[in-house]
Amino acid sequence: MKNLLDYNLNELQQLIISLDEPKYRAGQLYNILLNGKKESDKMNIPNTLVQKLSQEYYFQPLEIEYQYTAKDKTTKYVFKLHDGNMIEGVLMRYKYGNTLCISTQVGCKMNCAFCASGLNGFVRNLTNGEILGQYIAVNTLIGGNIKDRKIDKIVLMGTGEPLDNFDNVTKFLQQITDKNGFNLGVRNISISTCGLPDKIEKLADMGLNITLSLSLHASNDKIRQQIMPIAKRYTIARLFEALDYYEKITSRRIIIEYTLIKDINSSKECAKELAQLLKGKGYHVNLIRLNEVPERGLKATNEKEANEFLSILIHSGISATIRRTTGDDVSGACGQLRNKIAEK
Ligand code: SAH
Repeated sequence: MKNLLDYNLNELQQLIISLDEPKYRAGQLYNILLNGKKESDKMNIPNTLVQKLSQEYYFQPLEIEYQYTAKDKTTKYVFKLHDGNMIEGVLMRYKYGNTLCISTQVGCKMNCAFCASGLNGFVRNLTNGEILGQYIAVNTLIGGNIKDRKIDKIVLMGTGEPLDNFDNVTKFLQQITDKNGFNLGVRNISISTCGLPDKIEKLADMGLNITLSLSLHASNDKIRQQIMPIAKRYTIARLFEALDYYEKITSRRIIIEYTLIKDINSSKECAKELAQLLKGKGYHVNLIRLNEVPERGLKATNEKEANEFLSILIHSGISATIRRTTGDDVSGACGQLRNKIAEK
């Protein structure tokens, strides 16, 4: 069985024509899919067509299996895919609108020492339709549709390394920004990467101009190698070369993510070294105190240390903020998403 959401509008048109149906049905079908309709729902195309399609294709690639809402109104969703795998996404409700954090892989190959997503290894890439399906499932659930969407921003910061699933992720980005579809603006889309420089450059060349965040988490290569296996492959210098290229081509400001971990990367010396490393660059630093993942055994820095780290950066002329954690009481905070059903 294939998933219709893996097809963009052009491809749906070809499919519809190959089924000897009038071409305009493709546009109708496209709306039906983006509005989250399933085979059994009432819709404005003939039943015979639905039946014909259902023999080979399914309409939606996933279902919301569970949802947990935290005290701060952040909701974590557990999605069940057609093959039974589970992935997670998180809806954050801010004053200025809703942001959805989306997964790009089942599991993750990167195995960063602080993150839950790699704990059960890598299972498989998500298809573009499965990435889009997360947006559609939540948008539909909270009362949105294709014309009146209820999710204003997306961040590709769930489980998985998005640039390790490059083709599916970029096809998804083309789908979500499609003018005939949800028409999400590139300014409302962020992608976060552990740092694959060749892919960062390739993304820049595609002209999508979305916001790029780099998970740096260290002020030098030695510390980075201790906590991020990928750092053994690429140096920080090579990463910055790719970031500068991205910034030049897209004119978007780069965000540096830095998770503060007790006794690893959060000393005053690290702060000074980081300030030196970033001097003269236009990057913005997002500090976040570690969300503890019990199996990983690492501890968060306390708030005082985090504030000191921040103030060293700011006094050195580096643009920086501390990011507030949301949803940690339902294991929905950064680095806590995984491909199994959470206990809570
Ligand atoms: N693979 C991508 C995106 C997924 S994680 C990446 O590496 O960027 C999104 C962000 O959460 C990344 O910056 C990641 O490093 C960070 N993160 C992972 N585990 C965390 C944890 N336990 N506490 C806080 N942030 C964490």
